[in-house]
Amino acid sequence: MLKIHHFKEGIKEYVSKKKGNDFPSYSCCEECGIQKKLYRHGFYERYVFVLSEKKFVNIVVCRYICQNPKCRQTYSVLPDFIIPYFQFPLPSIVELIDKKIEGVPLTEGIRQRATYYFKRYACEKHQNWILQFFRKSGNLDSIPEESIKKAKKLLKMIQDFGESTFLRKSTDTFSNYFMAPSLYQNDEVHST
Ligand SMILES: [Zn+2]
Repeated sequence: MLKIHHFKEGIKEYVSKKKGNDFPSYSCCEECGIQKKLYRHGFYERYVFVLSEKKFVNIVVCRYICQNPKCRQTYSVLPDFIIPYFQFPLPSIVELIDKKIEGVPLTEGIRQRATYYFKRYACEKHQNWILQFFRKSGNLDSIPEESIKKAKKLLKMIQDFGESTFLRKSTDTFSNYFMAPSLYQNDEVHST
C-alpha cells in the first residue's frame, strides 16, 4: 500500500539526507485496523528525473509493515513531490504540463514527455476528477468549458493550492491519486 507524506525538506534535501530523513511513524494499520505501531521495514530506492537539474536522482523510499501476524500488510511512504509510478517528480510534471498548455517551445526529448503527460492530465475523466476534488474542498470558481482553457484553469488551481498539498489531499479524499492510470485509462491515450 502506498502512503504519501509531507516531508519538511524539498527534493534536494530529501535526496541528500537519504535514510537520515525524518520518517513518520504510524500508530495503526489501515488494512486490518490493529492499533499497533507499524514497524519500519527497510528501504528501497528509485530514480526520478529532475527537470530543473536535467539529471536522475536517487530517492530513498521507507517501507513499513503491520505487526499483526495475520495481516503483515506492507506500506511504502512516498514524499509528496513524487507521484506513484512516475519517473518525473510532481513539480517537473506540473511544469511540463504548464509549458505544453502555454505553447512554450520544448527541446526534443522533453517535448515528447510533455505531450505524454499532457494527454493524461487533460483527458476528460481526469479533469473531472480534479474538479470534483476542488468542489469538495469548497472551491466554487467557474470553470471554462473549452478544453484547453479548462485544463489551464484547473492547473492554476492546483498550483495555487500547492501541488504537493493537492497530491496528498486528493489521494486521501479519493483513495486514488493525481495522474493515476485508472483516471485516464478509459480514454484513448497513446504514448509517444
Ligand atoms: Zn494490519
